Amino acid sequence: MPGSYCYLQKRIVPLEEAKVGVMTHAFLYGTAVFEGVRGNWSEEQGATLIFRPREHFERLKRSAHIMHISLPQSADELSDICAQVVERCGYREDVYIRPIAYKSGEVIGPRLDGVDSDFMLFAIPFGNYLDLDAGIRCQTSTWRRVSDTAIPARAKVNGLYVNSALAKTEAIENGYDEAIMLNDDGHVSEGSGENLVIVRHGKLITPARSDNVLEGITLESVFTLAKDELGLEVIERSVARSELYIADECFLTGTAAHLSAVTEVDRRAVGSGAIGPITKKLQGLFFDVLKGRNPKYADWLRAVKPAAEPAGARANA
Ligand code: PMP
Repeated sequence: MPGSYCYLQKRIVPLEEAKVGVMTHAFLYGTAVFEGVRGNWSEEQGATLIFRPREHFERLKRSAHIMHISLPQSADELSDICAQVVERCGYREDVYIRPIAYKSGEVIGPRLDGVDSDFMLFAIPFGNYLDLDAGIRCQTSTWRRVSDTAIPARAKVNGLYVNSALAKTEAIENGYDEAIMLNDDGHVSEGSGENLVIVRHGKLITPARSDNVLEGITLESVFTLAKDELGLEVIERSVARSELYIADECFLTGTAAHLSAVTEVDRRAVGSGAIGPITKKLQGLFFDVLKGRNPKYADWLRAVKPAAEPAGARANA
């Protein structure tokens, strides 16, 4: 039977058995860094296609470096652990993989030096996070995006996601699907868990990476497709709030969100108010790559076959 597993303290155990102590530094202070990685099930290949694991584990290592979290394994070694867990889970459906490098020491006090670190990873079944077909409605959040001078936004620090939690919750409670956060200076930063792109005059524009955004792997992938497959120009620069209202198209990118069209911001339709033509084309290109249907980008995927079920388990199923 497929089931969720977790790599913890150098062993793969059933997820429900994976526990850490209440005094764990990461629990006391949010001192952990994480990734979200997708494994997309391909019926044709009979395999889970893990999307860009090397890039995710390289970013995890950069986040850990910023946070003084020791993570001696190479990105390839971490990718191997990830593949082993996915294989063991045996799911024949899309999965979400959560690696975390964390301060595992059980000590009081927020200092980072001299506190032990460890690495864990689990995988669970996971469907769509945002509506991919209808387009989503967004609200400019009253919560500002945390500044690099407070908590480094380009590191995926667990504690930093309190900022996302406040913004996302406010947006949902106000009847929207997602929040768009501004920086302290009022420029657009990103969604609560997604990078933001606007389309103006056929060009793709995303906030500059100095505007407190996470350097997104989905964004980089979508921009590669836009340039190489559609010949579009992509630009990184500061974006003003009112540009969202007059953009021809707007979309969010992220591991959980994939590529989701934003059709309304602050009760103003974006463009025609429906999914725009460039967004639609990019969605098609991106999903073909994710599902392993575009051989040109096969090196973005790591295929993992589910572990064979014991004969008895199958007979009893
Ligand atoms: N910004 C934030 C705040 C995020 O949490 C995420 C999700 N990891 C992203 C952007 C998108 O990054 P990626 O495409 O690498 O998942």
